[in-house]
Amino acid sequence: MDFDFTAEQKQFAEQVRRFARDHLAPGALKRAHDPRFPFDVARLMAQQGLLGITLSQHEGGQGGTLMDAVIAIEQIAAECPRSADVVQFGNFGPIRTFAEYGTPAQKARWLGELLSGRMVMSLGMTEPDAGSALTDLTTSARADGAYYVINGSKVFSTFSPDAQIFLIYVRFGPGVGGIGSVLVERETPGFSIGAPSAFMSDEAWCELHFKDCRVPAENVLLGPGGFKKQMAGFNVERLGNTARSLAYGRYAFNAARDYAMTREQFGRPLCEFQGLQWKFADMAIKLDGAQLLLYRAAANADRGMPSAYETAIAKAACNQAGFEVANEAVQIMGALGYSRETLVEYCMRRTRGWMIAGGSIEMLKNRIAEQIFDRRFDQRKRPPAAAE
Ligand SMILES: Cc1cc2nc3c(=O)[nH]c(=O)nc-3n(C[C@H](O)[C@H](O)[C@H](O)COP(=O)(O)OP(=O)(O)OC[C@H]3O[C@@H](n4cnc5c(N)ncnc54)[C@H](O)[C@@H]3O)c2cc1C
Repeated sequence: MDFDFTAEQKQFAEQVRRFARDHLAPGALKRAHDPRFPFDVARLMAQQGLLGITLSQHEGGQGGTLMDAVIAIEQIAAECPRSADVVQFGNFGPIRTFAEYGTPAQKARWLGELLSGRMVMSLGMTEPDAGSALTDLTTSARADGAYYVINGSKVFSTFSPDAQIFLIYVRFGPGVGGIGSVLVERETPGFSIGAPSAFMSDEAWCELHFKDCRVPAENVLLGPGGFKKQMAGFNVERLGNTARSLAYGRYAFNAARDYAMTREQFGRPLCEFQGLQWKFADMAIKLDGAQLLLYRAAANADRGMPSAYETAIAKAACNQAGFEVANEAVQIMGALGYSRETLVEYCMRRTRGWMIAGGSIEMLKNRIAEQIFDRRFDQRKRPPAAAE
């Protein structure tokens, strides 16, 4: 077992870090407080080969591994946390499911635009009455000649104010087997996008409404029976969320450590107070432990899809570690840490959201428990037993 990066991975990490330091660090604070998608960063990253890292060169990607994409998130976030969202979009988000299962015609139409940073894709999965119970989704797709007619609503979709193309989970028929997905362009008649709302992180999201929205049949990404594949693709998205949680926690940790070495109270630097030293030790234990779980899930997946269990355990650990460390970093930096003059409070707000997004901590723990007991625990209310 080797706990170090390979020579190529080290070189790649250094290259990405240099790019981030030169091009992204200077605007990091301003960028974090802008709710809109940073297309300028996306175009820069496209030129650097940081979008489509795991896609084949034949498809316009770099032919790298999922571990390479995790390294990219870590190195970018260390200099500009907000820009790590662009690495997420270009490597882990719905683009990954799209690249895996899209038809040649669909990819010819949209993949190039996405990988060049000119277009962003949003994922419409959650509905007002289908959050953790995602398979309760009701947005319907009814066949009508060469079209599907879509009706329903989606909420909380990241990047929705700026996306040109949406990957929408729909129901073609009853049950889990009836779930699949379609690709819907922003201007499609019958598709309306509500006014932007904001998460605690200031990221904007819009309600998506479909009213007799006619989508050409060739826009179907995964037909009925596609839910399992969709979830396999979504585990990649979860790993991006996992990697950002950890990277934001580490960003806050580093900022607090630097601060504790220079800020003096009672005539001594903060780092000389044992009450704070132990906080740092606890934070390092959390970060390093969670990092190993993230690397296991990414390294075992390589270019394929990561395992559901390894993803669940890594995401729960990194979501918790990232938030707890960022929260402690705010405490250590006092009122400055709580102010928008530093990015530490931003890291705390962002990491909080990932404990809910893309499989909440509780739902991940349900999945982990199933592995532990080697049986499925159905979360649904059982129908009352028939009277004897
Ligand atoms: C920052 C952010 C970004 C997001 N981006 C997107 C996106 O791009 N696209 C998209 O479609 N959606 C997105 N979402 C929505 C996200 O997927 C949902 O918030 C998530 O699935 C939880 O659903 P919910 O919010 O409706 O909570 P609910 O499902 O109503 O759950 C409420 C609480 O109950 C707990 N709970 C529910 N069921 C169980 C159970 N069986 N056992 C134990 N606890 C349970 C949950 O863990 C949670 O704490 C995003 C959310 C956030 C916060």
